[in-house]
Formats: sequence, structure tokens, C-alpha cells
Amino acid sequence: MASSPVASPRTLRMTTQAAAAAAVLLVAACGGTEDSTADAPATVDTPGLKEPEAESPEESSWSYEGETGPANWAELEADYATCAAGERQSPVDLPAPADAAQGEAAVVTYDYQPAAYEVVDTGHTIQADAGSSAGGITVAGEDYELLQFHAHAPSEHAFAGERTDLEVHLVHQNAAGELAVVGVLVEEGESSSALAEAWADLPTGEQTVSVADFDAGTLLPEDRTTYQYEGSLTTPPCTEGVQWLVMQETATAPAEVITGFEEAVGESARPLQPLNEREPVLGQPAG
Ligand SMILES: [Zn+2]
Repeated sequence: MASSPVASPRTLRMTTQAAAAAAVLLVAACGGTEDSTADAPATVDTPGLKEPEAESPEESSWSYEGETGPANWAELEADYATCAAGERQSPVDLPAPADAAQGEAAVVTYDYQPAAYEVVDTGHTIQADAGSSAGGITVAGEDYELLQFHAHAPSEHAFAGERTDLEVHLVHQNAAGELAVVGVLVEEGESSSALAEAWADLPTGEQTVSVADFDAGTLLPEDRTTYQYEGSLTTPPCTEGVQWLVMQETATAPAEVITGFEEAVGESARPLQPLNEREPVLGQPAG
């Protein structure tokens, strides 16, 4: 295990990569920071999302209103150009089921398991980072592991122009670093307490709230038919190549959960983006 006193370029390169990986892990282990983007896990390595851990607070000062709001995201950072130039952006308005495209949908299976989560306030959302294996989904035979879930108010996606109170995003990543996000639109109601359980205590400031034995599957509605389309992160840098799976059926959460989130986070929904050439298809769950 003795290391050579003279490091070859290859060794140096590997050392640098190892250091970068350690830095990423450290950021991930620390949970959300000012630098975190809601849809982008710290571990994802995508073009336009280089070294997120090195960003200074000023560089991530995007917001949902005014001069740093969605209309100006692309001007805030060179890496955010896709927010304006991209043609496969999210969120989008989804058609009524009868009007949905009849294309071929991917088969999706859901296999979540109870896990520990660290809930943090990223400055843009309340985010629950999986601290142990929380399971995941399989899309067309490809496995994606659940990294975190967070929410937006009101919902980001719309059904035939109508938004709901909240939208939960479950962010998954495959071995190649590609993302698949499951979106669940939430309306006020009494029948589900999954969000109430996950957010019994909302963190404030730098605080982290630990949640044990939470099953992310309880966030999903009973009918797991999804609208499927290829889109982007809904937060800067708006990176494309994200597989979106938006549940056709809405979930419910008690009024206090919705108002609690709204008070903690405020309005946090990006405006609807043009579909352009895309046609979301409706996919039935497997089995
Ligand atoms: Zn999101």
C-alpha cells in the first residue's frame, strides 16, 4: 500500500477524482445547502452542472420572483443558459387523459423500502435526502435509485391548464447518472397522511430533521398510471435528459401540511414550458 513518492499523471488524475468524489459525498452527507438545486442531486454529473459544491452563495441566488426569477435564470449564470435555450424543458401542461398521445409507454415498477431521511431546508424547498437505501424504480428495465424527495407550491405540472396545491418530486438516478423524476400532484384532503408523517417537523435555517423508517411509496397515489415525457430539471441549471413520470391521479394532504409548506418555502413553481415536439404518453404500471 506504500505510495510512490513521484506521482504519475495518471495517479494525480485519480487522486483529483477521488478528492472530487469525496467532496461530493461530503456535500451529500451534509444534506441541502444554499448551493443545492431542488431537482439536482449533489452526486449527479451532468453537462452544465460542474462542481456544484464550489458555487458561492451569490452564484446560486436564483429565486422564483423578480430579477432573479424564472424569466431571468438564463442570464444569472453561464451554466444556466439551457433555462432559456432548451427546447425540452419542464414543467409542462399535461393533456386530459382522453387527449394524451397513444405512443408507446415505458413499463415502470416501483420498489421502495422504509429508510432513514434527513430533512433540510435548501433555501428553495424542503428536501428529504435518503440516508440509506430507500429503494427505487425500474423504467423500461433500467434501475433508478431514489436519492431524495422535495416539493413545490403550487404544483409545477398542470393538468389541462390547472395546477394543484403542491407537487412532490421523487428524484431517482441510474448507474449512468441519468435522472428519472416521479411527480405527484397533491390536493387538500384527509385521506393521506404520508406527507404529514415526513414533514411532522419542518426544518428551519441550518437545522436538519431526521425521519426514521419512512416508505417513499406511501407518497404515491393508488393508481400509478403516469404521464411520461422527456424534460429537464425545473430549477437552474435546467439540465435536460430527465425522464419524467407524472402520476395521473392526484394524492391528498391535510390543509395544515400544505399551508405549513407554503409558509416555510413560499411560491416555488417554475412557469409552464412549451412542449414543442414532445407528446407525453400515458403508461400503465406493471403488474
Ligand atoms: Zn422539483
